[in-house]
Amino acid sequence: MDSGFSATLEQLKQQGLYRSRTRIESSGEGVELLVDGKKLVNFCSNDYLGLAAHPDIIKACQQGCDQYGVGSGSAHLICGHSKPHHQLEEELAEFVGASRALLFSTGYMANMGVIAALMAHADCLYEDRLNHASLLDGALLSRARFKRYRHADTSHLHQLLATADSKGMVVTDSVFSMDGDIAPLPQLVEQTRQHNTLLMVDDAHGLGVLGENGRGALEHFGLDQHDVPVYMATLGKALGVFGAFVAGSDELIELLIQKARTYIFTTAMPPAMAEATRASLKIIQQESWRRDKLNMLVDHFRDTAAELELPLMDSITPIQPLLVGDAQLAMRLSQKLKEQGFFVSAIRPPTVPQGESRLRFTLSAHHETAHIDALLSTVAKLL
Ligand SMILES: *Cc1c(COP(=O)(O)O)cnc(C)c1O
Repeated sequence: MDSGFSATLEQLKQQGLYRSRTRIESSGEGVELLVDGKKLVNFCSNDYLGLAAHPDIIKACQQGCDQYGVGSGSAHLICGHSKPHHQLEEELAEFVGASRALLFSTGYMANMGVIAALMAHADCLYEDRLNHASLLDGALLSRARFKRYRHADTSHLHQLLATADSKGMVVTDSVFSMDGDIAPLPQLVEQTRQHNTLLMVDDAHGLGVLGENGRGALEHFGLDQHDVPVYMATLGKALGVFGAFVAGSDELIELLIQKARTYIFTTAMPPAMAEATRASLKIIQQESWRRDKLNMLVDHFRDTAAELELPLMDSITPIQPLLVGDAQLAMRLSQKLKEQGFFVSAIRPPTVPQGESRLRFTLSAHHETAHIDALLSTVAKLL
């Protein structure tokens, strides 16, 4: 058995697809990490607003532990649903403008659970080809009929919907996690209305970042929750904490409580995490400078990359990928950047298609323009 395993591992190494973990020795508020005794400027975190180590959020977490202990003790439907969970659900629903919200322990589980639970009401799924793995796995797990449309291609989707013979659900990321571009949500809303089809949007990289008030991709486009019956977002990215939620109508949420297996059969997130997230949600609403600064940094990043003629992909979000092509080359660049003090991830298949390996830079409100200048001039030299 073990020799079979080693052969697989060897093959991955030869293809430049072997994965290993970088051990972070310490991190604090800000963008510097300690790795192997060396300081690196972090360009791969999803902590877009720089909240993961915010003192108010840490304090809320500590107080939550004091009051409720560390573990929740059980699933939500047994005895794991505490007051902070319930308050957080109400506050999230209000923030995104939905009737109700339901917490899940992770975004991966939310997507798997929601899609499977809704398949009794929509038995054909239409997904963007570049959707997050959890949405694709959710489709496979649900055993629904499953069609993928070309990335952000609403005319391809239209063709598929026009020939459909059963009720379906269209599922899309709002911001595509490996490309940073934004789905054409207004057109998707219109198409799903026209074809009487459900629409589910995964706003993992939009919530907190997009929109004037950080309400996410729907606010960015001037849409509201009635336009998107099934809205999902995560709490581990811009909110800097952990977990996820689904927002929608009263009926949707009640149905998920009854039917979503990844909600029912798993331990509730620690109540202290819910307290931490409540603190984060307050900061997101009070400190709009974080979004303003992030937007300024995105502009600066793109302008500087353009001056250096770097092959950036088309994105207005803090996810800024640089197309490299070859997986081995992407790995070597990432390694060289680490030696020069920058932590940047190389994204390779199967996360992205063959031949589309890339360096994926993510920006945070804690970066300064000088960090970006130093990074990009190093990248240009290495290339
Ligand atoms: C990160 C991510 C998820 C998974 O969320 P977790 O809480 O990390 O499990 C789901 N969808 C998208 C688009 C993501 O980027």
